[in-house]
Amino acid sequence: MDINVRTTDSSTLDRLDREPLAFGNIFSDHMLIRRWAEGAWGPAEIRPREPLAMDPTTLALHYGQTVFEGMKAYRGSVDGRLRLFRPADNARRLAQSCERLAIPALTADDFIACVSEMVRTEHAWVPHARGESLYIRPIIFASEQHIAVRPALEYLFVIVTAPVAPYFASGAKALRLKAEPRYTRAVPGGTGFAKTAGNYAATLRPMASASDEGFDQILWLDANEHEFAEEAGQMNIFFRIGDEVITPNLSGTILPGVTRDSVLTLLKDWGVKHSERKVSVTELKAAASEGELKEMFGAGTAAVVAPIQSINYMGEEIHVSADAGASLTQRLLDTILGIQYGEIPDPHQWILNID
Ligand SMILES: *Cc1c(COP(=O)(O)O)cnc(C)c1O
Repeated sequence: MDINVRTTDSSTLDRLDREPLAFGNIFSDHMLIRRWAEGAWGPAEIRPREPLAMDPTTLALHYGQTVFEGMKAYRGSVDGRLRLFRPADNARRLAQSCERLAIPALTADDFIACVSEMVRTEHAWVPHARGESLYIRPIIFASEQHIAVRPALEYLFVIVTAPVAPYFASGAKALRLKAEPRYTRAVPGGTGFAKTAGNYAATLRPMASASDEGFDQILWLDANEHEFAEEAGQMNIFFRIGDEVITPNLSGTILPGVTRDSVLTLLKDWGVKHSERKVSVTELKAAASEGELKEMFGAGTAAVVAPIQSINYMGEEIHVSADAGASLTQRLLDTILGIQYGEIPDPHQWILNID
């Protein structure tokens, strides 16, 4: 596809040197924008980032008809080349989110072309330090001015990017989770598998409370029984019980993470016993008391692989064993980062180079 690029004459790139990099405190110079109207996507354009003029009747603001993606561009630590990690999987998931929210989908080719051209335009914004990256945030939202509850007739696809530091500082302590006994993130038949705004809005109140209580993240439990583990905040969750690694199966209430799938693929490559199935708090409690709960970790693009030390369920601590042996969490982190930064072979062709 043809993407018109109009670059800024007042870059703010020098902020990168002046301000410490966090997660989402600095945005790059440009944005990509593409409009859907009269039944079709129009041309895509990259131009200087600026506020979008929006009428108060813009449908997305009222009924939340909006989806997003989250991915990163990495600068190779050996060759300096820019890389995307499994962008076709983000394209596929975006299409699934769109389908659920009655939003017109983009083709995977168009999505990848738009993301790639944004990264090319913002190449100077991709940080050089290993672990840092350019976070890419594509969104699609209902931009039509109307007030009726129905799928909109106009949408905007927008991409912004932000240079980011690692989500959790290296050497940070393993996370402490609160298993949320009252609120839920997603229900069967709902939108849990889609990356859509409402899923996140519903988590803000319980997350603020958990944070006030001193926890790092929430462990979301199933909506029916509040018994089965679903996700750790905005990450998929894994448990190593004995010699088996378990992650909740994709039941419709769980976001199908690209990192989750990468972890499962690596475990398969390594011959590590693993399964996708329900895991109850009762099972975790029993495993912990027998010293068999060896590791827990979250997996997602932002944090990559993040160790979890404990889950608090109704005041009771479920803790991983202190003497867990070799850390699978660390091996997974090293391998995924190694592939993303072009340091080790990429046997599954996960990398797309951007030149
Ligand atoms: C994005 C997201 C994940 C992780 O998905 P990745 O593709 O690995 O980044 C997990 N859970 C939720 C709720 C998410 O929004």
